[in-house]
Order: sequence, then structure tokens, then C-alpha cells
Amino acid sequence: NDVPLDYPVNPDEEDWSKLYPAYFRPHTEDAQTAVCDAKRPLSPSAADEAGSDESLSKRGPAAASAATTEKVPAQVEFADIGCGYGGLLVALAPLYPNTLMVGMEIRVKLVDYLQQRIEALRGFQHGLLLKKDAEWVDVRSKLLQEIAALNQPLVGDEDELHDNGETTRLVPGHYENIAAMRINCQKYLPNFFKKGQLSKMFILFADPHFKRRKHKARIISTTMLAEYAYVMRTGGILYMITDVKDLCDWSVSHLDAFPLFERIPDEELIGDPAIPCVVNSTEEGKKVARNKGKKYLACYRRIEDPAEN
Ligand code: SAM
Repeated sequence: NDVPLDYPVNPDEEDWSKLYPAYFRPHTEDAQTAVCDAKRPLSPSAADEAGSDESLSKRGPAAASAATTEKVPAQVEFADIGCGYGGLLVALAPLYPNTLMVGMEIRVKLVDYLQQRIEALRGFQHGLLLKKDAEWVDVRSKLLQEIAALNQPLVGDEDELHDNGETTRLVPGHYENIAAMRINCQKYLPNFFKKGQLSKMFILFADPHFKRRKHKARIISTTMLAEYAYVMRTGGILYMITDVKDLCDWSVSHLDAFPLFERIPDEELIGDPAIPCVVNSTEEGKKVARNKGKKYLACYRRIEDPAEN
């Protein structure tokens, strides 16, 4: 973790093309081309939130350039704060194929792992076999199992991939919409995101920092909530889950006291396709389930700021 953190002075300075090459043109010295090219008929998450059943392949990045010439600025809309190994993103990617999501993580090793994992998943979708050394054969077979376990409906044109005699059919357009970046979320969020940019934020199984003198390091605090409210849009949802009752109580008390978030009643969460992923898909969440631990979920809506009317 001694590797220095790299961060832009403001969100427009970040070169998103490195993270989402299918969606953005690389930055050049010409400011015009630094504007991203969404290549999409609809603003990304509007299509996902509308729950359209249009074929993924029709709207996936590979085919999208033919779909429209209109340029809509693409932007990241979901952020996983402290994403760890990235299980949430991998699960959400096919559910919201038109939404760009980023996993933010402070630990170098985890970011490296997740970037490789995403690169491998993208390679699979194109039917490519990536590096062939023993380590990668191992990673590949684990990923194949993972993809099969996602149990997602297959629609559109399917790629076939042969690995050790197995055939897996993959949906084109998956996994181009997820990426990992190294960041200290407690310091640099507004450097990466504009005001009101995010429609979902995930804080899943955060480090509990049990000791009282360490509480200030908790990822939910009054100061951090002000930053989260700034980068989230009105109506956006903050998902929090933990297996530590004390951390849940701490988080809920801070969120309840914060004027720009309101608790979403549990019954309103039924039918939210993100919830099963929040509860079950992260590596930490799976560990808690294996150990038969309890999970405490609380979701909050970013409400309108009366000062802005
Ligand atoms: N959300 C993942 C999951 O459910 O599997 C990981 C949970 S893990 C207990 C908490 C993660 O948050 C760790 O990977 C840690 O490195 C990361 N983290 C802690 N503080 C952070 C910060 N300030 N910025 C970014 N990541 C942070």
C-alpha cells in the first residue's frame, strides 16, 4: 500500500478510456475528443432501470456503434466503495448491461487481482484464451465455474468457448461495463465523480474498526456522508450491509441523522434486482454465509436538498 495514489484534479481529468475501452475514446490533447463517446441510444442506466428486455447483444458495446450516431456522455453511475475482490461488480455487470460501474479499493493487491479478473472475463466473452501459463489456466477454470454459477439467461448471439473440453456460452457485451480502481475513498471521491453523478453506491461488509479510537476510520461517518450525498443524485440508493451488529447500528444512526438520506423500508426493496447481489455475491458476504453469520442490511435514498430549490 506504499504505492502512491494517483488521482485527477477533477472528474473531467480522469482518463476513463483506460478502464472502459469499449465506451470511451482515449484522452488526447484535443479537448473535444476527451469527451467520452457513449455509443448508445439511451442514457446507460435509464435503459437498465427501465428494465427493458431488449437483447443485450443489441445494446452491448460491440454492436452499439451501429445503433446510433447520437453521442451521449457515458459516465460511471454505480460505485462499490471498498470493493475487495469484486464479486459484487461481476454479479451486477450482466444485470445492468448499460450501466458503467466502478469498484474502488485501497489495497493494491486486490485492485490488481480485480483488474486481471475483469480482463479475463472480457477475454472470455470474446472467446479469447488469454495468457496460457499454468497460473492463468487455473484462474480461467475458476472463472468458468463462476460464470456458470451466475446462472444468467443467455440471449442474443452467443460465443462458444472451449476450455478443457467444456463449452460455455457467453453473452457478448458483458463485463466491459465494470472496472476497478485504486483509491482512498475517504479522500478523493469528488476528484472522480461530479455532483449528482452516481445512482447507486454500495458499502458492503466494510471494515468494522471495532476499537473506539479507530471509529474515525469507519467508511460511514458524518463527514463521509456529506461526500456521498454530494456525488449521488436525488433518488439514488446507498446500499449498506454488514455482519457486525455494532457497525450496522453505527451506520444506521449516522445515516438516520443525516438530512439528505432517508431509509428505504424493507418491503420497498423487494424486487430490486441489486439486492440479491448485495446480500450474496461479495467474497466477504459468502464467507459470512459459510460461517452461518447474520447479515444486517440497510438501504437509504438520497433525497432532494431543500437548499437547492
Ligand atoms: N466489499 C467487499 C466484500 O464484501 O467482499 C470487501 C469487504 S472488506 C471487509 C473491506 C474492504 O474495504 C477492504 O478490501 C479494504 O481494503 C477496503 N477499504 C477500506 N478502507 C478503504 C478506503 N478508505 N478506500 C477504499 N477502500 C477501502
